[in-house]
Amino acid sequence: MHSNIKLGKISGIEIGLHYSWFIIAALIVFSLGEHFRQVNPNWGTSQIWIAALFTAVLFFVSLLLHELSHSLVAQARGLKVTAITLFALGGVSQIQDDASDAKTEFWVAIAGPIASLIIGFGCLAIAVGLGWKHMDEPHTGVTAVLVWLGYINIILAVFNMIPGFPLDGGRVLRSIVWAITKNADGSTRIAARVGQVVAFLFILDGIWRFFAGAGFGGLWIAFIGWFLMEAAKASYAQVEIAAAFRGMRVSELMSHDCVVVNRGISLQEFVDTDLLKTGQRCFAVEDHGRMVGLITLRDVGAIPRELWDKTTVREAMRPLEELHVITPDTQVLDALKLMAGNDVNQLPVVANGTLMGILSRSQIMRLLQARSELQLPVAHYPPLHRKGNEARHGVTR
Ligand SMILES: [Zn+2]
Repeated sequence: MHSNIKLGKISGIEIGLHYSWFIIAALIVFSLGEHFRQVNPNWGTSQIWIAALFTAVLFFVSLLLHELSHSLVAQARGLKVTAITLFALGGVSQIQDDASDAKTEFWVAIAGPIASLIIGFGCLAIAVGLGWKHMDEPHTGVTAVLVWLGYINIILAVFNMIPGFPLDGGRVLRSIVWAITKNADGSTRIAARVGQVVAFLFILDGIWRFFAGAGFGGLWIAFIGWFLMEAAKASYAQVEIAAAFRGMRVSELMSHDCVVVNRGISLQEFVDTDLLKTGQRCFAVEDHGRMVGLITLRDVGAIPRELWDKTTVREAMRPLEELHVITPDTQVLDALKLMAGNDVNQLPVVANGTLMGILSRSQIMRLLQARSELQLPVAHYPPLHRKGNEARHGVTR
């Protein structure tokens, strides 16, 4: 989830909005306006909309405070937080590393719901101080805003404490299982499975409500369920990947059969002699024995066909300076993070300026697939074998 609109930085954390946020912001303003109109028939139109707009803004401020609590606790416990993004279903904090111990996981996870509870009860307390009586419909603009914010923040805290990963409650559950079993991967698996069950119940409940006449509200619950289901599945897959590749180095997985092309040839010649004959998707470009860049199917596709004759491989390639390069000793998991973070499908493996091979996402996926087809337990590690000199001679020319 990347933000489309950047709002600024707090404690070094980029705060941003995803486009989908605007849809939900508009929905909240309109449904709040409708709500205020119904319960306060004596309010004028401008009072209704000012209150609705003001409430919506404060609601997002309280969402931001929820996320900031996660992020600041994470920072305080030594984790790096890059960004907070508000989107249609709330907020996400991009915490770069996973918690290294159960205690950190617990406090980072529970900080958000605690913040929401404090904000919620704080708003209700101020409303009471201003003369609002519990169970009454608030009648001044200020108490109406405060009471709505109070309840929504308490609901937010309770909803987030549902024990399904990746909700905060799921993370709390994970940290508790982790503390008891001392098994980080196992605890994520359990929390993610519970998350899938919770998500499934949400979907069922939403569909049931929809057919019982709840209309949009039912679909909304089903949609949240679907989102949770996808997130829980992704968390589960992430654990499998982490478990499968932990400790594995790039040298054990990279392909050595990277075809090298000369930087001076035209794209047309490159397509005819290399691309269409080898079926490879990625080629190293060399100049006097040194690697200078990488050219992929994607780069060729970006150049109009009629220019293939006049464009050289050097002009179309991505130069080495712009590429993220890994070494044979890089951890496969770090390489995967680098690919995901930069939206690339392959990384050149370079040592001392010489191309050793290529690590591609499809290789990693094939290996995962093989594991699952053989139904290998996740903890199965093949015996390590050093390939020695093989890597040096592997690159075909
Ligand atoms: Zn949270």
